[in-house]
Amino acid sequence: RGTTPAPPDARPRLTVLSGPSGVGKSTVVAHMRKVHPEVWLSVSATTRKPRPGERHGVQYFFVSDEEFDKLVANGELLEWAEFAGNRYGTPRAAVSERLEAGEPVLLEIDLQGARQVKESLADSQLVFLAPPSWDELVRRLTGRGTESSEVIERRLAAAKIELAAEAEFDTTLVNTSVEDVARELLALMEVV
Ligand code: 5GP
Repeated sequence: RGTTPAPPDARPRLTVLSGPSGVGKSTVVAHMRKVHPEVWLSVSATTRKPRPGERHGVQYFFVSDEEFDKLVANGELLEWAEFAGNRYGTPRAAVSERLEAGEPVLLEIDLQGARQVKESLADSQLVFLAPPSWDELVRRLTGRGTESSEVIERRLAAAKIELAAEAEFDTTLVNTSVEDVARELLALMEVV
């Protein structure tokens, strides 16, 4: 197509930020985009209902179950997963366009999705966002202590499994400070 193929040792242009739920992925991404609004972030499709202030096409493409079924059936999603009763997926076309244009692409998705991306795009880089410590994650997950101990136990058991996924990732960033992690992420994406 008239373009020089990337050398085999070229840095991956697709970066996936993932990690246990409650670790602060979206806060890091929001900060990064404030500092570098030119960094392109994939907008996912979801069957979840919009939260107040969320707009179609900005935070997510909010779709019905039937529409999501169609996206899956037509192979339009690079990956998708069910999370807490809703489905979420990355539209394939926009990501491919950016990658073909040689632009860095960032996905902020859950662990199941991260695994699927690695399988279909072997040269993507997977970044694991880890809590500063187990105690800190416990503090974040238990929140204000309004939940029953049974629910908290279940969440902590899930978090333990999610933390073990770190071994499957290329890089780990520890979420001690939002600013530091955002800077490290930009460096990994070679934006700065
Ligand atoms: P929330 O409902 O809080 O916006 O997102 C819930 C979870 O879904 C988060 O862990 C988020 O990273 C994940 N998520 C958002 N978009 C996608 C996606 O396209 N694919 C996958 N696999 N997970 C996603």
